[in-house]
Amino acid sequence: MSSTLRVTVWGENLHDRTSEAVKAVYPEGMHNTIAHALRATLPEGAVVKTATQDQPEHGLTDEILENTDVLTWWGHMAHHQVEDAVVARVHQRVLSGMGLIVLHSGHWSKIFVRLMGTTCALRWRDDDCETVYTVNPSHPIAYNVPPVFTIPQQEMYGEYFDIPQPDELVFLSSFQGGEVFRSGCCFVRGQGRIFYFSPGHETYPVYHQAEIQQIIANAVQWASQPPRPRYATSTCIHSPLGWMNQK
Ligand code: ZN
Repeated sequence: MSSTLRVTVWGENLHDRTSEAVKAVYPEGMHNTIAHALRATLPEGAVVKTATQDQPEHGLTDEILENTDVLTWWGHMAHHQVEDAVVARVHQRVLSGMGLIVLHSGHWSKIFVRLMGTTCALRWRDDDCETVYTVNPSHPIAYNVPPVFTIPQQEMYGEYFDIPQPDELVFLSSFQGGEVFRSGCCFVRGQGRIFYFSPGHETYPVYHQAEIQQIIANAVQWASQPPRPRYATSTCIHSPLGWMNQK
């Protein structure tokens, strides 16, 4: 990892261009709203760029990924159109230490399903109000986040959410229909930190909300830290020959 925090905000950027309802809320596209918020919230010196699905190689070339410490991912209607070769490339970068923040409907992205190894299915219903509870207040992702806050308009995501048990749960949400949802979940895969955060439906101004922007910025900083010292693969090989070679 470099000393400068380098973030790539990835957006599917389809609703954002085709739906008047989405354009009304995110005239510059959701990825730009998220990127602006990160630039305003992250420590000085952080470099935040955007990439979108319509770009060659979905804007995620080897060079861009090699120069990304944390990737954020928002997709919904075109998960199936993301090229498998790009998914494999992102997967390898996560395993070797790139942080990944998966947002809202990204729960069904190829990359998240691949990293989790489960269906990542959930229950959902449109047009509700979400209450988010901070259930792990000492966690870095909860920094400067209230104990409880409300998202006035939000799609309901409910349990059962078919993911592996998270390594850490930071946020838990409830809805007016009585549903609950594990809305902020941490995972580690290989040397990469992953945070799934569910708020963020495209027709509601969720990414304009201060608490949401703070959480995503916190998550980016948390995910940029490798969970343990990096080891060259050869030093991890447990064989007499490997041991002798090191001597
Ligand atoms: Zn949605």
